[in-house]
Amino acid sequence: MRHKKAEEYLSILGDKWTPGNDQVDLDALESDFKLIRETWGLSADSESLFEPRVLSYRTLANGFRILNHRVAAWWDFWHLDIPRPNLQNRQWKQLYIETRVVRHPHAAPTASFGVTRHPELHHTVQGRLPTILRQTQHNAMALAILRTLDSVPETENIKISLESQHIVDLLTSKLERYENSNWVDHDCDTTFMQSLVSVLRRPRAKANAVQAQTHPPPEDEHFIDTNGSHLIVGAQLASLSQSQIYKILLHEKARGTKTRAPTRTHLDLAKEAAGARTGSRPTDEELWRSTCSRQIAHKKIRAFLWRTMHDTLPCGHVWPNDPHPERALCPTCAVRETPDHILTECPDNGQKEIWKLARDLLAQKGIEMADPITLGDILSCGLPSSGAADAGKNRLFTIVMSELAWLIWTRRCKWVIEDEGSEEKRVSSPEANNLWHARMNSKLTFDLLATNIRKYKKKAFDKTLVHDTWTGVVEPEPELAPSLSASRNTGVLQYEFANNFLLVQLIVVG
Ligand SMILES: [Zn+2]
Repeated sequence: MRHKKAEEYLSILGDKWTPGNDQVDLDALESDFKLIRETWGLSADSESLFEPRVLSYRTLANGFRILNHRVAAWWDFWHLDIPRPNLQNRQWKQLYIETRVVRHPHAAPTASFGVTRHPELHHTVQGRLPTILRQTQHNAMALAILRTLDSVPETENIKISLESQHIVDLLTSKLERYENSNWVDHDCDTTFMQSLVSVLRRPRAKANAVQAQTHPPPEDEHFIDTNGSHLIVGAQLASLSQSQIYKILLHEKARGTKTRAPTRTHLDLAKEAAGARTGSRPTDEELWRSTCSRQIAHKKIRAFLWRTMHDTLPCGHVWPNDPHPERALCPTCAVRETPDHILTECPDNGQKEIWKLARDLLAQKGIEMADPITLGDILSCGLPSSGAADAGKNRLFTIVMSELAWLIWTRRCKWVIEDEGSEEKRVSSPEANNLWHARMNSKLTFDLLATNIRKYKKKAFDKTLVHDTWTGVVEPEPELAPSLSASRNTGVLQYEFANNFLLVQLIVVG
């Protein structure tokens, strides 16, 4: 079968094909575009020219692409007639593209765009991103370019000013790199970007310039052109690194996978909580990314959050066939255990005391948490505490919420498994109090030690960030700065959390 296919390809190749002849007319085209740049007087650092560059895809290496669902796509380029740009026409139409992403507390963000001939004039073309696309500024900009191309006669040159240098680079200097990796490292929707580039490549007989701007519709789901003759799909094997291939495969595997119902419920809980807290409802992707936030230092806590989001923590309702069926029920409440029950409801595992202390601590930092803390609050703890861009405050919130949820979970496992849920061993108030202080003090100690640049080099924590995280919640406050500047303490430092007195022995480093 493959042999047959190969023969079929070889028969298309005909006489012209010469293996190894990778540079077909590319130099000629390059000099054409160089001339345009000069003729138009484009400034080299702020204005870029869109070049079809399809000739460079005629290489042998492009025959080997993965995820290429249009088998003969690369072959099309061989026959493609690339028009020589018209060097005589020096006129262009100047257009400005503006985009806006509006975030809502209880609904998904919405992105829209407007195109105008002058920044102070009304928009000549405007529209909203269809809901099938991710509502990002980059996608809005890409759709605006598509609409612009539709609205201008093909005989005219276009000069587009964009708000984002990133999109300009993506369509010019970095285009080949992104196309060769099937857009794997980018946050745009792959099919959509491929389609936009295909339309840009259509012979307009003129050149299109894009520049980064220096100053600040109807729902249509059928705009994605997946059959354009200039469509380049699939990743070029020859240019991929191992990690890129890994990412592409993961991405491909995730496509078409439907979110499980329990995961969906937990995602919605987290979205609702984050929306109410920050005034902006996050997307699924932002939530997933937040579960592996850099502020959550321990991998096992990230994994715990990830599993909680998927509702696969090994507790009662997930493991009904566990060899110890008695463990499925809460020893006190006799209900089937769920993450919600363990982390926010059960009266006998210390969660109530632990969250009360957490709320008091966060309040000292100006973060007001509702009582009781909900599963949504815990699941969205990797996102900011509020809309404010205060890195230290957001970091403390993430640390406190993630560490304490993990503490409650691990202590509950000990009680149910090791202590067999015995009544005497349930978590008493004083024990919850001690556990809380020990955990928060050890986090503080960890943070101080991790700022040691001599020892941890590039991996060392940023001292300013650690200072901003803990300032206002430790006592005596004046001890924080010298401890940070030395990344160590020469003796005993007394830290007091929420009016509770505790001695902390800091380990002497270096
Ligand atoms: Zn219970």
